[in-house]
Amino acid sequence: MATPGHVHDHDSGEGLVPVDEARERVLSTIKPLQPLALPLTEAYGCVLAESLVAERDIPDFASSAMDGFAVRSSEIASATTTAPVELRIVGRAVIGERPEGTVGGGEAFAIATGAPVPAGADTIAPIETCEVAGGSVRVLAPSIGGKHIRPSGEDVRAGETLVQAGRRLQAPELGLLATAGFAHPLVHPRPRVVVLSTGDELIPPSRTPDYGQVRDSNAYTLFAALREAGAVPTIAGIVRDDVDAFKEAVFSHLTQADAFISSGGVSVGERDVVKAAFFRRGDVDFYRVAMQPGMPQGFGEIEGKPYFGLPGNPVSVFVSFETFIRPALMKMMGRRQLFRPEVPARLEEDVTGPIGKTQFARVRVRRTKDGWVATPTGGRGSNLIATVAKANGLAIVPPGTQTARAGSQVKVFLFRSMED
Ligand code: AMP
Ligand code: MG
Repeated sequence: MATPGHVHDHDSGEGLVPVDEARERVLSTIKPLQPLALPLTEAYGCVLAESLVAERDIPDFASSAMDGFAVRSSEIASATTTAPVELRIVGRAVIGERPEGTVGGGEAFAIATGAPVPAGADTIAPIETCEVAGGSVRVLAPSIGGKHIRPSGEDVRAGETLVQAGRRLQAPELGLLATAGFAHPLVHPRPRVVVLSTGDELIPPSRTPDYGQVRDSNAYTLFAALREAGAVPTIAGIVRDDVDAFKEAVFSHLTQADAFISSGGVSVGERDVVKAAFFRRGDVDFYRVAMQPGMPQGFGEIEGKPYFGLPGNPVSVFVSFETFIRPALMKMMGRRQLFRPEVPARLEEDVTGPIGKTQFARVRVRRTKDGWVATPTGGRGSNLIATVAKANGLAIVPPGTQTARAGSQVKVFLFRSMED
């Protein structure tokens, strides 16, 4: 605790929790969401919670790959244009129906592409090598056993694993599960996340601020970041700096939330409503992380739901989301890869930060023939949201480094694809 006469010098890092440790505190609390059987369209993008095994062959009947005649290969082995083999047409195999009867000696079934192959036949004589005359067909060329037939089980055999647990369901998997009849696979669902913005000064983006008012940007930053991560955000709106109103806003959303994120109100000011509401209950811990931006953080569980109390400054919100919340969401969704891709990049300019903290510098990275190059997009102030909009990565300047020099190598987390 800071007491009069003993004020922590935060830039030195004294009394702060290292970033990795703070992230570990979060991730050790977070569990994957309980699997749910969801319809395929909702299971899309989710991680499969159990391996699925084919119950039947795919396809589960042999079908013709050509229009023509289903016949016995042994009977047309000698067929030529000068000495055709004449067979009686005794039936017709059509798509979607079980052929009635069997192809016997001296017989043929007319068959369409995709139609099931009738019993007794082992090959297809394509229409191009046949002449039809009344109730008979003259076959002009041989066709060996199995030719032009798509056998059952050609794609997948009954008992084979279709999709392993842990795999994310994307277009190919969704199609395969549909084929195999798994219409409601068991998946880790998308977390529903309730977003609250705290502050007496806040107004919605549609309003023109009076002097001193601030448009709520954090709700929208978080909305988009949540969507991009695969979560389902709900903007619960602006809550005044009033402890009872704030608690009411949180608890009224309990049944529709798998997690909460609030911004603002986690420092020590008199208006720090999140802290005032939850500190004493002991549900949420408030601590200072050795990072810039994003130092004050709250994290805990409200009625078993993860609660992230972020600081109010817009860049702090973005960086805190990337550092703590996105990996936590990935874990909730059962994803194996929790973290963003990271590249080593050469700085194009000096980046100066507090010596005791990890600094997350907003940079634009690009690939050159000599590797990745990172250019800072502006100042380090945690209110400078435009510097994030210009960036595609966060460069990490670790504790112990005051100034990362131009030309030196840094790690950069890429938070969007290079094309965007
Ligand atoms: P706080 O952490 O509540 O002290 O807020 C820190 C700074 O962030 C103040 O300048 C707030 O006005 C600003 N701020 C807080 N919440 C938001 C928000 N939702 N959108 C934009 N700025 C905010
Ligand atoms: Mg505030």
